Amino acid sequence: MHRILLGNEEVSYLLRRSPRRRTVGLRVDPSGLTVSVPSRTPQRAWEAILREKSGWVLGKLEAMRACSVPAVNWRDGEWLPFLGSPIELVVEQGTPRARPILGDGQLRVALPDPSDTSALESRIVQWYRREALAFFQHRVEVYARQLGVRVARLGLSSARTRWGSCTSGGNIRLNWRLIKAPPSVIDYVVAHELAHLVELNHSPSFWQIVARLCPDYAMQRALLKEQAAHYHRF
Ligand SMILES: [Zn+2]
Repeated sequence: MHRILLGNEEVSYLLRRSPRRRTVGLRVDPSGLTVSVPSRTPQRAWEAILREKSGWVLGKLEAMRACSVPAVNWRDGEWLPFLGSPIELVVEQGTPRARPILGDGQLRVALPDPSDTSALESRIVQWYRREALAFFQHRVEVYARQLGVRVARLGLSSARTRWGSCTSGGNIRLNWRLIKAPPSVIDYVVAHELAHLVELNHSPSFWQIVARLCPDYAMQRALLKEQAAHYHRF
């Protein structure tokens, strides 16, 4: 097995040399990444291609991992992650405008037709997004004050491969699915994005700022990576 650092992720891959190949080929399947190269290709040549295609490779690997996680059963009794703990879904008959209510580890959702799974899913996602924005707003304020930076706008994203993003103009976007993670993990992502308002790169001085805000960030980051496919179930 060979290894390469793509973005922040160390990726292992199988290398195949073939005298009949004329170009470098990349394949991602359930067993991982395979790189096929013509016989005498130097390592730096295929590594350059891997770096150039890193977005595609990481996206495919993530999709493969997500496939191994069972789909959500949108019905009464299902368990959903919220702020790092499982909450039990309770589906009831109710009016079209009834808001979901969280209490005692249960999320109660009322619908005119409790067997309408797509209406149930969209009602729950809507609730997650609202909770996410309120929670993130609070954490962003805390860290922005500590860093002495100003956030122009905080928005939600629903990207498949990124947890957050930040522009030099101070616009922060955080993935609403993060609200499924423990607060300590959310804090790491918030600290990471806000640190970009000081350093718009991933240099050592950037990571020093992150470490100041979030001393155990390496552990939180590893936890997030480990649970990513789980948080992307819906
Ligand atoms: Zn970053």
